[in-house]
Parts: sequence; C-alpha cells; structure tokens
Amino acid sequence: MTQQINHSYDVLIIGAGPAGTSAALTLLNHSDLRVAIIEQSDLQKLRVGESVSSTLFPLLDYLQVPKDCFNADCFTETQSTIAFWGSDTATQRHAIFAADMSTYQVDREQFDLTLIDAVAGRGGIIYPRSKLQYMTFSEEAGWQVTVQHKEHGKITLNTGFIIDASGRNSTVINKVGSQRKSLDKLTGVGAFVRCKGDTRLPREQVIESTKHGWWYIAALPGQHAVVTFFSDSDLLSSLRMNRPEQWLSALQETNHAKHFLRNELPANIELWVRKANSTQTQFDHIKHFVSVGDAACSFDPISSMGLGFAMTSSAQAAVLVSQSFKEKDERISKLLQQYQKDIYNNFEDYLSLRNMFYAKEKRWAGSPFWQRRLSA
Ligand SMILES: Cc1cc2nc3c(=O)[nH]c(=O)nc-3n(C[C@H](O)[C@H](O)[C@H](O)COP(=O)(O)OP(=O)(O)OC[C@H]3O[C@@H](n4cnc5c(N)ncnc54)[C@H](O)[C@@H]3O)c2cc1C
Repeated sequence: MTQQINHSYDVLIIGAGPAGTSAALTLLNHSDLRVAIIEQSDLQKLRVGESVSSTLFPLLDYLQVPKDCFNADCFTETQSTIAFWGSDTATQRHAIFAADMSTYQVDREQFDLTLIDAVAGRGGIIYPRSKLQYMTFSEEAGWQVTVQHKEHGKITLNTGFIIDASGRNSTVINKVGSQRKSLDKLTGVGAFVRCKGDTRLPREQVIESTKHGWWYIAALPGQHAVVTFFSDSDLLSSLRMNRPEQWLSALQETNHAKHFLRNELPANIELWVRKANSTQTQFDHIKHFVSVGDAACSFDPISSMGLGFAMTSSAQAAVLVSQSFKEKDERISKLLQQYQKDIYNNFEDYLSLRNMFYAKEKRWAGSPFWQRRLSA
C-alpha cells in the first residue's frame, strides 16, 4: 500500500485505526499538507468494537467516504437491544448513553480497511508493519521519529507535527514523558463465532449482567456473532476465563445470553483478550503533538462511544493541526489546550453516566466487580 518512501512529512500519524485514518482524511481533504501514517500491524489484525449509532454516517460524509463507499454488508442495522441488567426481566435498552437512535453493527475489518484505502487514494502515505520506537523534538528541526519496520529495519522520519492515534494500550505517550491514567481494569474476553448451517441469528444485541461481570452478544453481518465477557483483568485471571472451557461453561451458566446463539456455539473456540478500560491522557503540554481517539480518552464498551469519539476527536484535532502550519505557536497551543479541556469535559459527563448505569445493578453488590463500580 506504500506509494513512495519520502522521509519527510508535514504531519505524521501514529496508528491506522479509525482515529488515525479520520485525522489523515481530514488533513488530506482540507489542506495540501504531506501526511503519513505508521501502523505497527500488517493491517490484517483482528479488530473489535463494532456497535455504533447512526451518527456515524454524517461523520463518514464529512470525511468524504460516505456509506455507499463501503460494501453493502459492512453495516447491519440492529433491530433491538435487550438488557438483563439490574433484574432478570428483559428491558429494551437503547444504549444508555445513546439517545433513541438506530444502532448498527459494523464489520470492523472492512470498515477500517476502506478508510485506509481512502487515505492511500488521496495521497496519504501508509507504512504498515512499522512500529514507533523513539521520537525527539527540537525547535529547529521539529520531530525526528525512529520507526522499526519488520523487514526494512530502522526508518527515520522527520515531521512538523505528530498525531498520536495509537489506541488505549500503546506506550507512545510515555515516550514523550507524559502518561495515561487508567480508571479501572475492565477487559473483554471474546470470540467471533460463525453459526453452522442456515441458522439465522436475530438482529439483536443482548447484554446480561452476572456476578463477576457482564456478557455482550450481537449478531454481525453474515452468519457471525460476537460474544464477549467483560470483567476486571485480575478477576478474569482468577476465574481462568481465558481458557475456552471455562469461558464456555460460564456462558452456559447465564440465564439468557446462552439462548441467543440457538445452541450453535462451536466446540473449538478461539478467544481474544482486549483491554476495555476507561483511560485519560494528558498531552496539551507537549509541543507540536496531539492525542486523538482511544489514545486521548477511552471508554467502557457499554457506552458504545469508542468509534464515534475516535473519529470526531480526530477530525477536530486535524483541523487544529492544519491551522498550526499557518498560525503562531502560542495561538495553536491555546487551541490545543481548549481541545484537551473539551474532551476532558466530555469524559466527565461519560463517567457520570457510566456510574449511573452500573449503580442500576445491585444484585451482586458484595462481589468485587460490582463493589468496585458501586463505590466509584
Ligand atoms: C472488547 C471491546 C469492545 C468494544 N466495543 C465497542 C463498541 O461496541 N462500539 C464502539 O464504538 N466502540 C467499542 N470499542 C472501542 C473501539 O474499539 C475503540 O474506541 C476504537 O477502535 C478506537 O479507535 P482508535 O483508532 O483510537 O484506536 P485503535 O483502533 O486501537 O487503533 C490504534 C492503532 O494504532 C496502532 N499502534 C499502536 N501502537 C503503535 C506504535 N507504537 N506504532 C505504530 N502503530 C501503533 C495499533 O496497531 C492500532 O492499529 C470496544 C473496544 C473493546 C476493547
């Protein structure tokens, strides 16, 4: 996908997830800046996080990659969301955080790759299999970034501005002397399952709380479903939930979630484990640098806020980055401080909603998972 190797760019983006590509597209659509993205994976990695509200579509229009640029099966409308939360009685629940609007399941692989293709098609340079190693800043030369490429070894890139879109797990922020604050240890252990035969899964999402955490199941495009158990990393270890047999037996113990798959769960299941913690990053004191998406703030998946925030925060930051090439440093620093403040305020609102939602489940108030959230 790399078109040509030019070692000097106006803007370098770290990470080719939805945040990185949205930042790149905003810059490429509205400026003449030379933009590159480095991505540590080979772009084939498994991607999770697929439930979005219909507010995604105006965002895609803004990025000039409207819905019809994606394959028809990239988005499946969810017909209902059923929650067994706080009691054993089903409630129809539009994500507590989302207003009463339609919800879609996104095929993340197709979605992310279509955005990457759009970046390449508009002249953005993408370095796959390239992991950021070091970066240094000087007033005279700007940023010098050393990247480790899987086959080509070390590559040095010079750039005027860095956009950190490297997600909630990355250590990029530590390399510039700042840090990410983690508020909890929420982790998802999940599997993508393909149903056998002609079984048609209902276009539903099911959420069921249990003593040690909560299950999330949703039908995906095609005959697939995603099944995830969320709990804290230490509890998952002590419950040995990374072992397929333990995970399957815990799913069998649910009252409702287990029925969703119509007994179609394959015997051999490949589990993935992903951090799903709420985090906040301080970055507004770093010159010519901004964090976007999960790298700036990350949310509990119960909120379904991750993808939408990743894309809006990136588009907003990219506009400021593009302005930084025309205006004085002082003015841009102020605007970036305001950007950081806005996302902190947004995060505070999210925390109140998250606490309110977890407070609705009181059946296992003595178990560590719920106790930690009820006392938050
Ligand atoms: C289990 C789970 C379920 C979720 N469910 C939902 C949901 O239903 N709805 C929703 O909206 N959100 C959900 N989310 C959140 C959503 O997945 C994220 O908010 C979204 O992917 C954030 O996009 P991003 O581009 O900021 O980060 P990412 O998608 O994490 O992309 C970051 C990219 O940076 C790359 N990278 C990292 N470090 C480096 C480095 N040093 N050098 C080069 N590249 C690097 C990574 O390889 C990665 O490709 C869920 C998350 C989890 C974990």
